[in-house]
Amino acid sequence: MNIVVFIKQVVATTNVKLDPETGTMIRDGVECILNPFDEYAVEEALRIKEKMGGKVTVVTMGPPQAKEIIRKTIGMGVDEGILISDRALAGSDTWATAYTLSQVLKKIGDYQLVITGKQAVDGDTAQVGPEVAACEGLPMIAWVRKIEEISETSIRAERLMEDGYDVLESPLPALISVVKEINEPRLESLRGKMKAKKYEPKVWGVADMPGFDVAQVGLKGSPTKVFKTFTPKRQYKGEMIAGDAAQAAATLVGKIKEMNIV
Ligand SMILES: Cc1cc2nc3c(=O)[nH]c(=O)nc-3n(C[C@H](O)[C@H](O)[C@H](O)COP(=O)(O)OP(=O)(O)OC[C@H]3O[C@@H](n4cnc5c(N)ncnc54)[C@H](O)[C@@H]3O)c2cc1C
Repeated sequence: MNIVVFIKQVVATTNVKLDPETGTMIRDGVECILNPFDEYAVEEALRIKEKMGGKVTVVTMGPPQAKEIIRKTIGMGVDEGILISDRALAGSDTWATAYTLSQVLKKIGDYQLVITGKQAVDGDTAQVGPEVAACEGLPMIAWVRKIEEISETSIRAERLMEDGYDVLESPLPALISVVKEINEPRLESLRGKMKAKKYEPKVWGVADMPGFDVAQVGLKGSPTKVFKTFTPKRQYKGEMIAGDAAQAAATLVGKIKEMNIV
């Protein structure tokens, strides 16, 4: 079973700062990590490979520094990593990102399963997985919390819902996105870390993907237009409310009413 896992490098903070002039995210001096949901995606791919054989390939679209997250997954046991990096991709929205990743799938060709995380913890849209599936005409199962059965030609999985779960079956190739309930990601092994240190991922630009239409990527090719981005100003100061729970709740209700916001 050949599995492709899409992974994203994200900033290691929830305190994202925006440049007030340009409205873009300030990345300088901010530590970057592998998107936590993508660790579960990698772990699940490795477990399937251990059971069925085959190969796990990770793919990330990002700047050259994103090689670091590829190396991390090599340390976990991934076979191959591909970095998609090209100036033509700068300013791409989720649709342009998904178009690019779908072109990567076309070039890889021989795969049975694609796994993504539920969402990236910075962009937070959860759009890229479903959009890649739409671009490639692949069946998709979102929010997978357990793979019940998998063969070379089909998959049966539990999809997490607010009030329980659905069981869905799909032919392969297919794309699934996974939630953190699915497994416990392994740490990198010592041997894996040694291998990762020396590992050089493949780097592809748009010219490496036959038929790639650059008009569909970058700021110009992105259907999303961002008019304004800003960090909301904190309106109120924090205040400790003393007393037992019932008294404190009554005081709080009074304060909310005074604010005239409900
Ligand atoms: C107009 C516009 C311009 C933008 N310009 C830039 C820019 O110049 N530079 C920039 O870095 N971002 C840019 N972005 C943000 C970028 O489009 C998103 O970060 C990206 O498309 C992923 O969306 P998300 O973070 O919501 O991921 P989600 O959809 O929440 O991610 C779900 C899953 O998809 C996979 N995935 C997501 N992104 C990637 C990726 N890049 N590579 C591999 N797998 C992935 C992962 O498995 C992830 O768990 C821009 C966004 C907009 C709207």
